[in-house]
Amino acid sequence: MSKQILILGGGYGGVLAALSARKELSAAEATITLVNRFSTHQIITELHRLAGGTIKEGAVALPLNKLLGSKGINVLVDSVKNINPNENQVVLDGGSTLKYDYLVVALGSETNYFGIPGLEENSLVLKSAADANKIRAHVEARLDAYKKSGDKKDATIVVGGGGLTGVELVGEFADKLPEICRSKGINFSDISIYCVEAGPSILPMLPKPLIERSVESLTKRGIKFLTGVAITEASKDTVSLKDGSKIESNTIIWTGGVKGNPIVGSCGLAEDRGRSTVTPTLQSTSHANVFLAGDCAVVFPEGSERPYPPTAQLAWQMGELVGLNLAAAIRGGAMEKFNPVFSGTLASLGRKDGVGSIGGNNTQLKGLPASLMKEASNIRYLSHINGLFALAH
Ligand code: NAD
Repeated sequence: MSKQILILGGGYGGVLAALSARKELSAAEATITLVNRFSTHQIITELHRLAGGTIKEGAVALPLNKLLGSKGINVLVDSVKNINPNENQVVLDGGSTLKYDYLVVALGSETNYFGIPGLEENSLVLKSAADANKIRAHVEARLDAYKKSGDKKDATIVVGGGGLTGVELVGEFADKLPEICRSKGINFSDISIYCVEAGPSILPMLPKPLIERSVESLTKRGIKFLTGVAITEASKDTVSLKDGSKIESNTIIWTGGVKGNPIVGSCGLAEDRGRSTVTPTLQSTSHANVFLAGDCAVVFPEGSERPYPPTAQLAWQMGELVGLNLAAAIRGGAMEKFNPVFSGTLASLGRKDGVGSIGGNNTQLKGLPASLMKEASNIRYLSHINGLFALAH
């Protein structure tokens, strides 16, 4: 009888698990159902561009029905309420209960506010296409308000966190806001855009020359970096910093970090600080018929005590391996161990500039080659998910 494979999450991990499992398994061997809270697969590494207004939503939100439905994968648009791994069932917000033989949990991560007072209530985040649209609309509304009131709070944007998300977002603002200001009759030099980073530098994962290059390029285009100073509190129109200073702003965008999805951390699967622990074959360490892909799992390289970072490239590779291992589990073959390939890190600094450290020998890229490489990696991903099945059939 056809086994029931249930996949939770339509991000990189979930979509790749669905496609690679479907590529391996016939309909007679497995029925595959994917549940996602949105009707689209969202390319979250490109959301900053939607927030800045340089691309349209269709470029980062791909209809799941088109991507998966046509390939014999059932798509359910609903949110997961809870997972009951001891009963092999999942309850959805819409009220239905789904049974499974094999479960793939790929529910991603959530924003971590670190308990900073007022932050969750008073900040915007960049975790979905809807969030990106909200940021763009909010920034435009504040600029319109500034045009009328002349109030500096309306002309000040604070981005909390100088990791990849924060830096790529200020890069888009640096590119796009001069044009938006011009169209509204506002002088761009009136606008203050801060990127506040608690650590000693932005982009700590990159080599020093690339960090310096990023700061120089963005500072020239109007971004103010405050490093070595944490955000300690936020209200509707003020951001408080650890050194006692305050920035008056009613646009606070928080990109200060992520944590495991709480549904996964509390459902009874073995976990470590809110993220599921996995075997080298990406099965839950407590429930062998549950596979994990992406940010909601914690994966340690062999012999290391530092887990892999929660990145899109790892989620993608985890998803693909989970699909193969599901086929092995159903047919009784040997499963493969997770052994990721790192292609490097690329950050865009607006449309025409970027930095990156790529390949096994960490080749450093900057300027147009880096932004073209980032563009190419996105195109490679899109052709991969669209072509995976076509190539196989
Ligand atoms: P992150 O955790 O990588 O960076 C958050 C930053 O916020 C850190 O530098 C941290 O020091 C800072 N911070 C934390 N608390 C603070 C405070 N109170 N005040 C000021 N600063 C504070 O988060 P991210 O940038 O959202 O990235 C999450 C994951 O997604 C990472 O693994 C990243 O590699 C990945 N990502 C990759 C890309 C890309 O490949 N281009 C783009 C975006 C995200």
